[in-house]
Amino acid sequence: MVHIPMPGPQGRADLHNHTTASDGTNPPAAQVRWAREQGLAAVAITDHDTIAGWDEALEAGRELGIEIVPGCELSTEVGKTEVHLLAYYFDRTEPEMAALLKRMRGGRRARAAEAVEKLHKLGHTQVSLERVLEIGGESVGRPHLAQVLVECGICRAKDDAFDRFLSIGKPAYVPRPKLTPEEAIEAVRRAGGVPVIAHPGLIRDDKWVRHFIEAGVMGIEAYHTDHSDNQRQFYARWGLDAGLVVTGGTDSHGPRGMRTVVPGSVNVAMDVVAQLKQASTFWQRTQA
Ligand SMILES: [Zn+2]
Ligand SMILES: [Zn+2]
Repeated sequence: MVHIPMPGPQGRADLHNHTTASDGTNPPAAQVRWAREQGLAAVAITDHDTIAGWDEALEAGRELGIEIVPGCELSTEVGKTEVHLLAYYFDRTEPEMAALLKRMRGGRRARAAEAVEKLHKLGHTQVSLERVLEIGGESVGRPHLAQVLVECGICRAKDDAFDRFLSIGKPAYVPRPKLTPEEAIEAVRRAGGVPVIAHPGLIRDDKWVRHFIEAGVMGIEAYHTDHSDNQRQFYARWGLDAGLVVTGGTDSHGPRGMRTVVPGSVNVAMDVVAQLKQASTFWQRTQA
């Protein structure tokens, strides 16, 4: 009998990673090195609403001999649900895509400033916007506000900061700039990129997955750290039936975060990277 081993990360790709360009704990080069150490052939850098990590990652990739898949993760809103959209191989200089990223990123800063103002009005004047922006960088968000609330001794832990101040309906919550799935998908496609619905199993309502497919998403992230085996099979089958690229990744946020997910612990064959390139009109155009 022929024994077919479970594929290890060799010759494999992890298509979902965060760095300090957004809410990850590893700078881009360190995350790339960590991925290389796992034996991965390719790693995608997919920070929230930003491409600020690309250049450092690409340089590290060249040095270490690991292919970098350039991407980002956009937060869209549909109904009262937040749905994440991964975008790969798009033209970052395409004006509307660049404007969209700028708007989402700028929105993050304004949102952090407003949250700090609310905390000051609540009497927590020791919370410094400067400190929040210092640790949050380009993609500042609620985890950074939570960290500062812990640093100031106002909250015991980040969870506590969310429960008391930062979650929806809590006194320092500020709604994010709205981005609809249609808007996001259209912008990514217009920039020649490949929009992929992220971790569909975490949305908890498949009607939104259908909605994204109808809106023109080109891939589905069936393999994800937080998906059960059943969910992986279910979304992979759905993706194949719908003619989508079936992708996967860890969603690693680096070490020392809320939890440590090692890059490559969820991975896909390099063939998937080839399919993404095939689907990207920008990639096709620039390789010709
Ligand atoms: Zn996500
Ligand atoms: Zn993510």
